[in-house]
Amino acid sequence: MNRIKQIIKRCGDLEISRRQFKQNFINYYLAAVKMEFFRKIRLKLQRRKYGIISVNIETISTCNRTCSFCFNDPRFEKRPQGKMETETFHRIIDQLAEINFSGRIGPHFFNEPLLDARLPELIKYTCSKLPWAWIQINSNGDFLREDNFLELLAAGVNYFFITNYDETEKPELNTLQRKYPSYIKVVNNSEMWRTDRGGEIFQKNKVLNAPCLRPSAQLVVNWQGEMLLCCMDFYARYSFGNLETASFPEILNSLKYRSVVAEIAQSRQNGFDICHNCDDPGSIPW
Ligand code: SF4
Ligand code: SF4
Repeated sequence: MNRIKQIIKRCGDLEISRRQFKQNFINYYLAAVKMEFFRKIRLKLQRRKYGIISVNIETISTCNRTCSFCFNDPRFEKRPQGKMETETFHRIIDQLAEINFSGRIGPHFFNEPLLDARLPELIKYTCSKLPWAWIQINSNGDFLREDNFLELLAAGVNYFFITNYDETEKPELNTLQRKYPSYIKVVNNSEMWRTDRGGEIFQKNKVLNAPCLRPSAQLVVNWQGEMLLCCMDFYARYSFGNLETASFPEILNSLKYRSVVAEIAQSRQNGFDICHNCDDPGSIPW
């Protein structure tokens, strides 16, 4: 009985039917249970068959901030700036649809996703092609208001993860969190662990031998369509190929990708230079 209560409570927390089902009370819970149950199964099968469970697609390169623990800090060399072509974004989503991708999708890398005015349309497209995917927006929250929050939820976003970098109260964000607790979490920057990003940000000079599973489980695509080693590769120095011309299956089956993934899964010291001083835990990312 406790288990049933727990499931009902969790389903209540999901609140997915409000947007996706709009049916009666019974259907609400049945749909929520089905969604949660099957999503987990699909994700397990996904991991077993393709390895990949999460995908970051940077649709725009810019960020309004210049945090000191980020490559957007002025002390670092700038990278080329721009927006991903909408056709490229569609092409990537279409390819993910071919493998019925049901993991997490996020429109971020070293950017602020809400600066891309196309975001609601891109999310709608993603949702129409990948109904089982979990769409999450990680943002600094500077441009998040209730109207665009609701617009993005209606488009198909499942969850907002907001980092407050100012360490001062943000009443508007707090109100959103109180009003829609199942869809948004706001954390303070001081609560977050900061990676050295391949030894370049803080230059901790750590040398770890631990394996890294990141590239085996997460695809990171920058605004130029380059499929990168991982989310540390700001300058796209370790690209596996460009998705404007190559396809996911081609890249995932390429000798380069397979050998790098296998070697780093043994020890990060087998990987590229960027891996040698990387202090990331190397676990499977979501
Ligand atoms: S808000 Fe995020 S992407 Fe922008 S500078 Fe800060 S850490 Fe980097
Ligand atoms: S060791 Fe670090 S840099 Fe290398 S793949 Fe893993 S997360 Fe990326």
